[in-house]
Parts: sequence; structure tokens; C-alpha cells
Amino acid sequence: MAHIIILGAGTGGMPAAYELRELLDHSHQITVINAVEYFQFVPSNPWVAVGWRDREAITFHIRPHLEKKGISFIAQSVVSLQPEESALTLADGSVHQYDFLVITTGPKLAFEEVPGSGPSTGFTQSVCSIDHAEHAYTAYEQFLTDPGPAIIGAMPGASCFGPAYEFAFIFNRDLKKRKLRNKVPITYVTSEPYIGHLGLGGVGDSKSMLESELRSHDIKWICNAKTTKVEDGMMFVSEMDEAGNLKKEHILPFKYSMMLPAFRGVDPIAAVEGLCNPRGFVLIDEYQRSKKYKNIYSAGVCVAIPPVEATPVATGAPKTGYMIESMVTAVVHNIEADLKGLPATSKGTWNAICLADMGDTGAAFVALPQIPPRNVAWFKKGKWVHLAKVAFEKYFMHKMKQGTSEPIYEKYVLKMMGIERLDK
Ligand code: FAD
Repeated sequence: MAHIIILGAGTGGMPAAYELRELLDHSHQITVINAVEYFQFVPSNPWVAVGWRDREAITFHIRPHLEKKGISFIAQSVVSLQPEESALTLADGSVHQYDFLVITTGPKLAFEEVPGSGPSTGFTQSVCSIDHAEHAYTAYEQFLTDPGPAIIGAMPGASCFGPAYEFAFIFNRDLKKRKLRNKVPITYVTSEPYIGHLGLGGVGDSKSMLESELRSHDIKWICNAKTTKVEDGMMFVSEMDEAGNLKKEHILPFKYSMMLPAFRGVDPIAAVEGLCNPRGFVLIDEYQRSKKYKNIYSAGVCVAIPPVEATPVATGAPKTGYMIESMVTAVVHNIEADLKGLPATSKGTWNAICLADMGDTGAAFVALPQIPPRNVAWFKKGKWVHLAKVAFEKYFMHKMKQGTSEPIYEKYVLKMMGIERLDK
């Protein structure tokens, strides 16, 4: 019987494990390998960075939840992959064989692309992981004792812009609550060509709505921003024009900065000959299967998808939660078909749907399909989005602990948006 290894227990890997367990005969063995013992709910990290959540609220130990479903769990980093032998090697030197491999390793955070960026060796904060978000909160508490200019945004090559906007508005809201906003000039610095582009070429009215929100909260912005380096308290930004020529050089002082980095694929996966594109993202066919290795499937942030359009400063297309869940469902059904000797037929619905929190209100968007022209381009703001996002955190954490895979809540929110199906 088959052994299926899922590599990475995040937003994609955990549902993949549960869905496979639900669908496949129990004679097939399922093993999840993850670099750490815990699951983290990544979308809540911006809240951790201002102290509205803590680690305990948005993480849990994976092992008991998987094991109670009959899924094996190994908390180890994979250090290399040997696809010709259908094997992988872990940090402790152990080698594991698989019949099918599902790669859901998420992003490598490419801070090295902008010298001086990142929380470990640089001067900017990040909300991309729980460790980073905690680090960002410690820096924030220090900043509150001596506030000054703040820069929030996204680096060249970034693809995940929603959390940058979220953090700008959450940061603004928290400072207002503390009556310190008057001491903190905020600038939103982004590689997007215009506000509300979101790596998606804009969605509905996202440009005018987000510009209006930034304006009404006294947040200035610089678009087409190629951040070239960061020094202690100083950010160096080349602002480009529409043709990609230099328009203006900025040297921006700051006392606090959170900049989302560009993403790449993680090293052991990127290193495999023929598996990935030059940025280390897994090259897949329409059935989520590696173009070179037919027993490898992939889903989530680690897959290669083309940018929606060329932009003066490089940007990528975001891979959001609902899209990831739909890729996972396709993977699971295609592995089931493979095991039965049938051809793969399931495809993910590559549509962007996202709830972005803005502190006390929020913005929801749906881009269907992701690449314009679209059948649905929907962008709306309202208090309900903030509440829906809070509820979604509780729901998703519960779902990942219980091991249910049906996206009930997602379907409910879509219904509230008046969208019956995402694959139409
Ligand atoms: P991840 O959830 O990052 O999981 C990858 C897993 O692989 C991790 O557990 C990691 O430890 C493991 N791993 C990596 N390398 C190895 C290795 N070598 N060996 C073993 N394990 C390894 N999308 C939305 O739809 N809505 C949102 O509100 C939203 N908010 C976001 C907020 C932030 C701050 C970020 C960064 C992204 C957000 N996204 C959001 C986008 C996306 O949904 C998330 O990034 C999501 O977590 C991606 O899921 P994933 O499974 O691809 O990767």
C-alpha cells in the first residue's frame, strides 16, 4: 500500500493530511513532516505584532491532533530531496521513502535581497511568522516609549500585499487607542505600481477605496518603490516611473518599520534539478503535479504561478487561503485517482478571495479569475469584515484541531458576498 508524505504543516499541509485521511483507505500510510512541532495561524500574525493576540491564541501542538486521526507526524526539517529514489532526508540524518510526496513548504522569506532588511540581521520587522510577529511586538513596545516616523509596506518582488495594508491600518488603530498617533508620521512604501494593486492588477475599486482609507488615516505612500537597502533608522528607496525609470531617490528616516519581503521557495526544494523555477517555486501542471516528477504534487505559496502583469518594480501574484485549500483538494483527488490507476482530473480554482483586517473595520475582495479580465471583481469595506476575520481565526484553528476539511465557513462568507461558486 502507498506511503504519502506531506512536507509542511501550514495552511496547505494540514488540510491536505486531513483530506487524504478522509478520502483514502486506511491501508495507505500518511506522514506529515514539519520543521516545527506547532501549527501557526499565519493570518493573525499582524495582530500579534501589536499585542492584540499572543502565541498561545494562534498556535497549537500538531502531533496529538494528527495522531488521533491515524496520521504520523515528524517534527524535523527536510534538508534534501532525492526524487529519483522517491526519498527525502531530514535534519537528523534519517531517510524516508514515499510513494507520493505533497510539497506544501510555503515561502522562504528572501530578506537577503534587500541588505539591512529583516528582523534577524537587519532593521525592519516582519509579520510573516509567529517568531517574527513576537519580535515585531517587542520592538513595538520599545518604540512606544520613544515614538517617531514609521514605514510599513512591501519590498521589491513581494507578492503578499494584503498583510502590509492590514498591518498599516492595525498599527494606525493601535497608536490611536494609545493616543500616540500624533507622534508617528506613517509612510506606506510599496513595490506595487499603485495603491490597491495587491499583486492582482487591482480588484474592483481597490485603488480608490484603499487610497481614500490611507488618506483619511493620514498615511502617506510611495508606490513603484524599489527599496535598495536599509540602515539603522534609514531606508533607501528608488521610486520608479511607469516606464521603470528612476523618478526620485528617497532616504526615509524611521523609528519603526515592518516591510514584507519577497518570497522564494525553501532551499532543499529549490535545490532539486528540474523541480522548480529560478526562484525555487515548484513547477506544476494543471493538476498540481510536478512537471518532471510524476509522484510529486504541490500546493500553496511554494508553487510557481506567473505574475498577473509586468510592473515597473517586480511584484508577484498572491496565493491566498481559499485558493490554497482548493489546490489541496485537487491534489488529494488526483492522488486518489493515481492510486486507482485513473488519470488526474481535479484542478484548483485559482481565484483570489481575502478578508483584510483594518483594525476596527476591514476590506474583503474577490478576484475571479485571478488574472483579468474577470467574471467577478469585488472589493468592499465594512465592520463585518473585521468581525468575519476574527471569527475565521477561531473557525480555522478549530478545524485544524478537529481534522475536518470541509470549507463550511468559506462557503458561508462567499454566500454573504452573493457568490455561489468560485469555479464558475
Ligand atoms: P505555510 O502556512 O507557511 O506552511 C509552510 C509549512 O512548511 C510551515 O509549517 C513550515 O514550518 C514548513 N516547512 C518549510 N520548510 C520546511 C522544511 N525544509 N522542512 C520541513 N518543514 C518545512 N491569505 C489569506 O487568504 N488570508 C489572509 O488573511 C492571509 N494573511 C496572511 C498574513 C501573512 C502575514 C502572510 C505571510 C500570509 C497571509 N496569507 C493570507 C497568505 C497565505 O494564506 C499564507 O501565507 C499561508 O500560510 C500559506 O500557506 P502554505 O501552506 O503555503 O505555507
